Amino acid sequence: MTETAQHTRRRVRRRAAAAAALAVTLALTAACDLDGALPGTPRPAAQATADGVGAQQYRDFDEKEFQEDLRSAATVTNGFWRLHWQELFTGTYRPPRIRGLYNGRDPASAPRCGGKPLEPGNAAYCPSGDFVAWDAQLMRSGYARGDAWVYLVVAHEWGHAIQNRLRRSLVSAASELQADCLAGAALYGAAKDDRLTFEDGDEQEIAAAFRVIGDKAPWTRPGDHGSASQRLRSFSRGGNGGAKACFS
Ligand SMILES: [Zn+2]
Repeated sequence: MTETAQHTRRRVRRRAAAAAALAVTLALTAACDLDGALPGTPRPAAQATADGVGAQQYRDFDEKEFQEDLRSAATVTNGFWRLHWQELFTGTYRPPRIRGLYNGRDPASAPRCGGKPLEPGNAAYCPSGDFVAWDAQLMRSGYARGDAWVYLVVAHEWGHAIQNRLRRSLVSAASELQADCLAGAALYGAAKDDRLTFEDGDEQEIAAAFRVIGDKAPWTRPGDHGSASQRLRSFSRGGNGGAKACFS
């Protein structure tokens, strides 16, 4: 995906995901509503980056484009909610803070939520701090499979920030699936607004990402993320029906 103002950027070349990266189980904790653990991903080679996690030896990995896409994902998602808030909800839109990339392998430096450092291999919205943050290795390893990954993760966590701004009665018991729906609403909504361009392969990348981060079992209780197909269905519901469809 590209932020529409930046058409000239070269698209990240996809590569086949390493088999190891597909051997995934989801580590979930209730505390901060963490998502998308990728414990099977290879440890990156050491190459200094600002967040202290090596920029990888993933083939074709472009650190500059990665950083640009991260910024774009937040800008586009935030722009969608800012623009459409008043059509949807009462009150004034306030964005969450963006803590961005963190090194989950270094608990001393990871942002703390509810007194605990955020976990490696996860992304989070922290209600008590009202911020979104994502583990650097999770984001780089996902990005190495295609740039849609970072848009999906950012828009999903942002979806939790949106939920936290709403009346409790509007927040679904299946809050993870609702966050996926809100992510779809924001990304497709931004595309409709001409602020985001979906490129060939993006939708396949999103389906593939859900296969990685979906639970093994379907949703049964709060805290479950739902199976890959449930998550994709939810994302598509928001994409097709808009944010209102996430509350029906
Ligand atoms: Zn979530």
